Amino acid sequence: MIAILFCLIAGDVKETETYRHIRESIDQVSAIDTHDHLRPFELLPRDATPEGPRVTLRSQWAGSYFSWTSRVEPWPDDRFFDTWWNLAKPVFKNARATSFYRYMLPAWQDFYGINFDTITDEQARQLNQQIVSNYANAQWQDDVITERARIELMVNDPYWGRLDLDNCFPKTRYMAGVLNVTTLVTGHHSSRSMGTSSPYWFAEKNGMKLDSFDDYLAVVNAIFDKAVAVRIVVGLKSTQAYERTLYFEEVPKEKATQAFGKKPAELTEDQQKHFEDFMFWHLASLAAKYGFPFQIHTGQARVQGSNPMLLANLIQGNPRTKFCLFHGGYPWIGETGVLAQRFPNVWIDSNWLPQLNYTMAKRAYQEWLDAIPSNRILWGADNAYAEGIYGATITTRQCLAEALAEKVIRKEIREEDAIHIGRQVMRENALEVFPSLKTMLWRKE
Ligand SMILES: [Zn+2]
Repeated sequence: MIAILFCLIAGDVKETETYRHIRESIDQVSAIDTHDHLRPFELLPRDATPEGPRVTLRSQWAGSYFSWTSRVEPWPDDRFFDTWWNLAKPVFKNARATSFYRYMLPAWQDFYGINFDTITDEQARQLNQQIVSNYANAQWQDDVITERARIELMVNDPYWGRLDLDNCFPKTRYMAGVLNVTTLVTGHHSSRSMGTSSPYWFAEKNGMKLDSFDDYLAVVNAIFDKAVAVRIVVGLKSTQAYERTLYFEEVPKEKATQAFGKKPAELTEDQQKHFEDFMFWHLASLAAKYGFPFQIHTGQARVQGSNPMLLANLIQGNPRTKFCLFHGGYPWIGETGVLAQRFPNVWIDSNWLPQLNYTMAKRAYQEWLDAIPSNRILWGADNAYAEGIYGATITTRQCLAEALAEKVIRKEIREEDAIHIGRQVMRENALEVFPSLKTMLWRKE
């Protein structure tokens, strides 16, 4: 008792029995991860080492969110790890407290026995060597994801080849995917080179003519039909927040028809926006028709114009569409909460949030649970390599357990309810929002 009191005064909920119970329970949940960016194994970005292209310690940091706020040195011309490490290591010193750095630490500690805060040059060399040898084949990453991170299914966003639906997803038993529709919104003209993410590429590959706006809408329908046919697509995803405001007006079809086929230079900003606005509403209605929940990146991207409140008219105007607001709307977590409180067709997806800002994520879980039923919150790891997926998963399990334990200690909920909520957020809610995931479950419990 004295020990527990002392720990509470000292302020670390993780030292309490309540936390330990909740954490143990959350750790055991076979998780459903609603968002990642895992490429097919042979397409993982690799560095040019003297032995050939390899996944290195540098690939891992460069492919993590650490590189958003700290410089990760490029792989050196002489191709040696030591050269890279000597240039790269000073930057970690200023990043020790950041969530973008800390979320990766569980992977180095748990798989490689290394405390990255105190890593020596010799340890860095060994760590790199072990990463290189682990990536000799895909078995390592499959084990990390399914056994160590205990993820049963992940919903993958293949932004590297969005419309090449036969080839863009890794072929593994834990894989589900989304149709990333970002390029469908902006496709008024074929001039933007988008490779296999282009609807014009899709039309050509499938021998469809694409001369008018009606042709374009028919191609979009064909893309949706293809998404159904590949059987692992369970929803839609938009990253428009990286490009423009999230305020989408309801625009008549004629305006989009007028903009279609015009080169970008021939359109005013308003005409361009109207085309995109029309398409976004159109996709929201197709989402309802096809039963695809619509995942929308909200919050930190372009920052200006990414406040989730800007989506209120779209959400209200499409009551049959399920909207999953990504990243908790960071930093607008309260705004995301009120949208979910006001509109029954909104779910909050907290993926990425514990990595963006751990403290805010913990507060967000507590505030959202005050505002909305506990079956409306989802999570995802949002990473590109198994180590990052593991780190993000551990970090989320810990953050959620801390948030719930604090509520139990304050007597706002009972421990048994906290354990139930932990299971909902890590697994059950995703199966409710994306019912087709239920047919892909494989773990025998
Ligand atoms: Zn993402």
